[in-house]
Amino acid sequence: MTVTIKAKALEAFVADIFASAGCSTEEGGRIGRYLVSANLSGHDSHGVVRVPRYATQKKNGTVLADVTVDVVVDTPVIAVIDGKYGFGQTVTPQAARIGIEKCRKNGLSAVTLRNAGHIGRVGDWAEMAAEAGLVSIHFVNAAGSVLVAPFGGVERRFSTAPYCVGIPRPGQDPLVLDFATSIVAEGKVLVASQGGKKLPDGALIGPDGTPGSDPHLLYGPYTPTGLRDYRQGTGAIRAFGDHKGSGLAFMCEMLGGSLSGNGATDPKRGRFANGMLSFYLDPKVFDPAGFFPGDIAKYVDFVKSSKPASDGGEVLVPGEPEVRMRKTRLTDGVPLPDDTWAAIVETARSVGLDERRIQQTTM
Ligand code: NAD
Repeated sequence: MTVTIKAKALEAFVADIFASAGCSTEEGGRIGRYLVSANLSGHDSHGVVRVPRYATQKKNGTVLADVTVDVVVDTPVIAVIDGKYGFGQTVTPQAARIGIEKCRKNGLSAVTLRNAGHIGRVGDWAEMAAEAGLVSIHFVNAAGSVLVAPFGGVERRFSTAPYCVGIPRPGQDPLVLDFATSIVAEGKVLVASQGGKKLPDGALIGPDGTPGSDPHLLYGPYTPTGLRDYRQGTGAIRAFGDHKGSGLAFMCEMLGGSLSGNGATDPKRGRFANGMLSFYLDPKVFDPAGFFPGDIAKYVDFVKSSKPASDGGEVLVPGEPEVRMRKTRLTDGVPLPDDTWAAIVETARSVGLDERRIQQTTM
């Protein structure tokens, strides 16, 4: 069973939860906006399902409210940024704005971010760059979150280490490739454990090397609305694409983790932090003749014209499923499995939101 809530009402509810939990109104608003943006784009794994976990992190002080980042290294084209364990929804836009500014002045910039709270759907930051007319490339790791078995192994060594590329298109939605280098993002296991979409066969692997899809492999035992703790399970998520996906995950750990100073994923680290290396490129500098937009348009048409592999099928380009889902959910509302909604309501009560405020959201 699901409840369906209009995006604006859900954003406001999440904002109120975090304002009650001790964040500023502005930060609460940002958390609400970015989490709901992930739901709108179809990535429920990075949406409001995260509210209980974020609230717990705020309560136990592993994530801090209203942080202003430190710029540790600052050259005309490079910034090394410390997010100081602030909410990802607060420190990542600060880092992206610095990268965008430097790129606008110089045509190119590279920015690392370390010690960021969960930065959510990486596509949000590529879309921010695309809105400014810039191409961006992001290598990300999630230190402290050891979840993924490398190709050929069963023990966890990587985080779900996402990779993302965004390309602006004048007058159109950007092309955004944005995925975890694991077969599924951890949030998809979280969603499946709460009655949401089931995992594909073989997304997980047991300690004896048997592929599986039962979320208990990752979380061990749990109650329907209880917190999921990935340290309790004996299995792992598998890296996608055999040695190729596993190799890309390894490089995300090296670039998003080691180079940024965040540290590659390490079970001894304990405290969660995303690290990210982002490149920003200004197409106007690379392409003064204006060839790029026309060639993209031509190529997108060419790719999409490939004969579908199955009857009624269709070839899509990166970012297209998210744009479509956003249109649908903005109109119809965001569907949430009952367990997910119950866990959010429980969090709202735990931070002191009153019953009337809770009821308003479901009406
Ligand atoms: P996914 O497997 O759904 O893949 C999404 C990507 O594939 C998108 O670029 C989408 O446009 C493209 N795509 C999907 N279907 C397509 C089709 N039929 N044809 C062409 N392209 C298609 O994504 P995922 O691996 O589950 O990751 C989900 C989200 O999780 C991402 O936004 C990622 O940034 C986020 N994530 C974040 C962290 C973190 O630590 N912050 C960690 C892992 C993942």
